[in-house]
Amino acid sequence: MRHGDSGEEFDAAGKFAFPAFNNGHTHLAMTLMRGAGDGEKLQDWLDNTIFPMEQRLTPDLVYKGSMLGLIEMIRTGTSRFLDMYYFVEETAKAVEKAGLRATLGTPITSFGTPYYKDAKDALRIAERQLKSMRAGRVGYCVSPHSIYLNDEETLIKARELADKYHVWLSLHVSETRKECVDCHERTGKWPVEYLDGIGLLGENTVLIHAAWLTKMEIRLIVENGSSVIHCPVSNMKLASGGVMPLHELLDAGVTVGLGTDGASSNNSLDMREEMKIGSLLQKSHRWDATAANARTMFRMATLGSTDFAFIRLDDVRMLPHHDLISNLVYSGGAVTDLIVDGRLIMKGGEILTFDEEQAKKDFEEASLELIK
Ligand SMILES: [Zn+2]
Repeated sequence: MRHGDSGEEFDAAGKFAFPAFNNGHTHLAMTLMRGAGDGEKLQDWLDNTIFPMEQRLTPDLVYKGSMLGLIEMIRTGTSRFLDMYYFVEETAKAVEKAGLRATLGTPITSFGTPYYKDAKDALRIAERQLKSMRAGRVGYCVSPHSIYLNDEETLIKARELADKYHVWLSLHVSETRKECVDCHERTGKWPVEYLDGIGLLGENTVLIHAAWLTKMEIRLIVENGSSVIHCPVSNMKLASGGVMPLHELLDAGVTVGLGTDGASSNNSLDMREEMKIGSLLQKSHRWDATAANARTMFRMATLGSTDFAFIRLDDVRMLPHHDLISNLVYSGGAVTDLIVDGRLIMKGGEILTFDEEQAKKDFEEASLELIK
């Protein structure tokens, strides 16, 4: 087959071509924190490990952390992702260099970070990013972190900003039971119900996690045409407890994507693992071997994909060929090639758009700076 503006020939003979993955939720540069504080309780992990490390973040560290994340994405067949992180302009530069696609958002919170003073400042940064947007592979969105890290006024302003620029509004919601109970105690409403009440739900709203939902909240998601991202590995690793009502959402017609979350809470960015573990979680939880089958997971992992990844058909994990999608979801296999926007990003296992070894060296040095 031919590809790209270079017109170079790409020989796909003997390879299984599939739509490249779309990772619906990442904090890309958190590769820098992979493995740190592993095994702690969620709040202790955030308070003792993640938040102190994030206080030391710099634009340079985010760039280098993003490059490592992109290597992993390329090598596991992902071509696009929806990200939320600090200094996200640096992630934009890294994505441009690697040749992938991304929609990036600044996590808006009411407390200060090395990136901004307060929520007002974060909203200003988000608007600056939206104004700088050009047509292309990299875009921005508006990402208030969550209900529990923002006041109502900030959430409403974030909504207005997303509407003004016609972009996604993405936020974490109903990840833990504590979050839901706290919201109910404070507002008398469950999180999605609360968001609906203040006008946060719309067709451009992306609800991340949604592990604890009531039937009434599912109806509100349907009525508003909002989308949901399932992050099964992160939810299980951080013991969020709830299991997203995947089939209730799909049966109601909700668009549901799949995301890894950050490498600090997963600990990989590998969508093949996410498909497999997500499927196993639903089957085990529902006592139903027909739940979340390979094709359902594959559709969720490749939403809107227009790019292609390849695995050799004689890869041991792709043999025999009774069901290639099942092999891909449950067995895996090494991704050898990736074509994004008509351009070869990886060919025969070699990344063509940047020096992988150098990026890894830079990353190792950068990761040490975080623990000084
Ligand atoms: Zn997250």
